[in-house]
Amino acid sequence: MVRGLAGTDSGRLAGETRRQDGLSVSDLRETLDEVGICTWSLDPGTGQVTVSENCRHVLGVPARRLSDHDAFQAVVHPEDRAARAAAVCGALERGGRYSIEYRVCKPGGETRWVRSLGRAERSRGPRPARFRGIVYCIDARRQAETRLQRLQADLIHVARLSAMGEMASALAHELNQPLGAISNYAAACDCFLAEPGAVQVAAARDALAAVAGQTQRAGAIIRRLRDFVTRGETDRRFESVAGLVEDACVLALVGTREYGIEARVDPGPPGIQVLADRVQIQQVLVNLIRNACEAMRNGARRNLGVVAAAQADRSVRISVSDTGPGVAEAVAETLFQPFVTTKPAGMGVGLSVSRSIVHAHGGRFWVDSTAAAGATFHFTLPMTED
Ligand code: ADP
Repeated sequence: MVRGLAGTDSGRLAGETRRQDGLSVSDLRETLDEVGICTWSLDPGTGQVTVSENCRHVLGVPARRLSDHDAFQAVVHPEDRAARAAAVCGALERGGRYSIEYRVCKPGGETRWVRSLGRAERSRGPRPARFRGIVYCIDARRQAETRLQRLQADLIHVARLSAMGEMASALAHELNQPLGAISNYAAACDCFLAEPGAVQVAAARDALAAVAGQTQRAGAIIRRLRDFVTRGETDRRFESVAGLVEDACVLALVGTREYGIEARVDPGPPGIQVLADRVQIQQVLVNLIRNACEAMRNGARRNLGVVAAAQADRSVRISVSDTGPGVAEAVAETLFQPFVTTKPAGMGVGLSVSRSIVHAHGGRFWVDSTAAAGATFHFTLPMTED
């Protein structure tokens, strides 16, 4: 049927038959044209391709230009040709269906995304009896997906900045400690050097070494902060889970001792690795740890646990537990939806962003919570093979 469509622009085909549902071949063809679906067929014997006339709108070239597989390949974006050829040839060799999305280059240089579906019907011989399918434009869907990805990246970044904003005063306090120590060591140095002598010079040297150590401590805090708030595209690398957990704890636990929070951190064995965006996974951890600390602020017991452990299914599970009041019943059902919060100044995006980051990494995200024991948020990440 598809081959018969080529070159018949309009009008009813002579002697055509109507199907049981009352539609004629030309009715069907007009419908396909209207919805922007281009049909094609390939003769496995001759390699000749026949395409419906509306391919000018869908693929940007007239039907006569697409006379065989190579001619079709020529309009496919160079980066997508190998994948398309593999899909088409695979279906031709084995029979059955294929489905692939690729870009086509229109004569003006514009590219557009299309989706192509095909089916090779097997015959008794070595070649399929028929190979045919459809192509249609998916530009609008692809553009919407790109926009959505950009929005998600923006939201993740805004949530990170917001977390940093909440931690700003604790971080400033943390930075003040090495700065204060540097100032004290410098004053001591000044005193030692006022009375030159071998002992004083040695003491001044020690003080200067301590200054260098404190400067590095301050520098490390600033570096972590800068990495955390830098925008950056998603950048997945092999990361040690222990390193991720330890670094996130340094940031998230800033200032929590003052509230009497006892933290038990077990980052797991050093060899466990995941393929992850370091900053994003740290963002998840910082968010969970800060939420846990906040939940315990008014409690009698303030025990925080951050534990990473390998699982039997080749994933690593990271759990953040607290001894707070557990998740409030009012938000339990909708906890992972955006803008759900019980905090007067809360944005309510931390958990939804954390969950989407974990899902994008191929992991799971969930919570166990009781009023008596507190809340434990868990997430998993697939471990990379050694
Ligand atoms: P926000 O912290 O801005 O409210 P989140 O998405 O991080 O946004 O958290 C949403 C809500 O989930 C919080 O307002 C709180 O009610 C609840 N929640 C999160 N973590 C805990 C926890 N450890 N214990 C109890 N409730 C929690």
